[in-house]
Amino acid sequence: IAFEGLLLTAKPNMGQLHVVFFPLMAHGHMIPALDMAKLFASRGLKTTIITTHLNAPVFSKTVERSKSLGMEMGLRVIKFPTVEAGLPEGCESADQLTSDDLLSKFIQALSMLEEQLEQVLQECRPNCLVADMFFPWATDVAAKFDIPRLVFHGTSFFALCAMESLRIHKPYKNVSSDSEPFVLPDLPHEIKLIKKQVSEFLTEEPETQFSKLSSQMSESELRSYGVVVNSFYELEPDYADHYREVLKRKAWHIGPILLCNRSAEDKAERGKKASVDEDDCLKWLDSKKPNSVLYVCFGSMATFTTSQLYEMAMGLEASEQQFIWVVRRGKEEEEEEKWLPGGFEERVKDRGWILRGWAPQVLILNHEAVGGFVTHCGWNSTLEGVCAGVPMVTWPVFGEQFYNEKLITDVLRTGVAIGSKEWNRLTSDGVKREAIENAAKQIMVGSEAAKGRARAKELKEKARQAVEEGGSSYYDLNALFEALRSYRS
Ligand code: UDP
Repeated sequence: IAFEGLLLTAKPNMGQLHVVFFPLMAHGHMIPALDMAKLFASRGLKTTIITTHLNAPVFSKTVERSKSLGMEMGLRVIKFPTVEAGLPEGCESADQLTSDDLLSKFIQALSMLEEQLEQVLQECRPNCLVADMFFPWATDVAAKFDIPRLVFHGTSFFALCAMESLRIHKPYKNVSSDSEPFVLPDLPHEIKLIKKQVSEFLTEEPETQFSKLSSQMSESELRSYGVVVNSFYELEPDYADHYREVLKRKAWHIGPILLCNRSAEDKAERGKKASVDEDDCLKWLDSKKPNSVLYVCFGSMATFTTSQLYEMAMGLEASEQQFIWVVRRGKEEEEEEKWLPGGFEERVKDRGWILRGWAPQVLILNHEAVGGFVTHCGWNSTLEGVCAGVPMVTWPVFGEQFYNEKLITDVLRTGVAIGSKEWNRLTSDGVKREAIENAAKQIMVGSEAAKGRARAKELKEKARQAVEEGGSSYYDLNALFEALRSYRS
């Protein structure tokens, strides 16, 4: 009996797995982390999300709703060191960073969260930590509790491979000017960029706060248990293989995670409450023909100069397309609206809608009237466009958006580039109205547009299949759960 008892206690704990998610305080990272926590919980795991006070509303409603449906989800709120890092009161999210100085202080604040993470893990004792790439020290914190740390970058395999190619080969060093194209070495396709489109995180010399963080992120990723990627195999098979086989990374593709949102309620409120009544929006779209409206939105962070917004308005008007244009402007500019050409709204009132603030993006994109998407190529928006089956006009602004653009235009061939040439951390300028007019027409009308739309619809179907039982992402998610179970035992 005593021997049997020993065997029983030595048996691995086969109970429920508990995964803690620690996303960066930025909407483009918090939204997919929430989806991921919900997806894991819907498959029977216990999940806990760690965030800060002012970001808690991004998660709380969904967490409560999921709990009422019987899922095990929780939220742990920690303190954001706003004052300690010298940030203005209330600044806890990356979309509030309007200057390089604030960005630098924000990065400083992130580095101060280590102790609080450790406390939460000490109390929760989870089986795994999924921490954002912006927390390189999370690998060591997880090691203290002997649990695997997974990295979440929130981007595509394609972008991960492109960044690695740039980091290893530094091809931008071999060109004579910032605007001379170079090929990204060792990638499955011939992908060209110019130096101006590459993140300063990679190219800055001597080492700065940003390039140092970038090296720490790479180093921490290599020591982590692996990477979870919000993508699906059929979207970028060459790059999923390249990342694993050539770059030797351990990765699980489990997306598009957003497809775990089935109800209209889940699709409507993502990140923030929409600035418009969703029903008004849908009614307006109901009055339009299928594939006849262009949706224009640039995510949660990208900002444009007054002159660029003015050009955008002129280009949209000249394109003669119907549109919903989402404009986010700081409060100070809102009163005057110098970016709006005189009489614009009156002239386009039957075919265009300027949506000021936060749009119910997933609901809009999935309406059959929407036939095209002008996007900054943030990875969430890109995937949302893919899942909606719409062709895109690509207008990258910063970050990994320039790589995602290449995936859309050069590999998937479901989009047309606007011709954005420069990485701008905070504001963007330089695209002329003619480019906007032409790109909008190119994806909305004519035989080439029809071909692009057909390819986009095929990808939509493949995305749906990937997350269904037996699909590639469903399979890989199971494989991840199995790996976590065997790590525990
Ligand atoms: N989003 C939204 N309404 C808006 C703007 C953005 O719902 O008006 C959502 C969008 O659907 C996506 C996320 O915010 O899920 C933005 O993430 P993305 O990676 O596209 O860009 P980022 O904001 O990180 O630049």
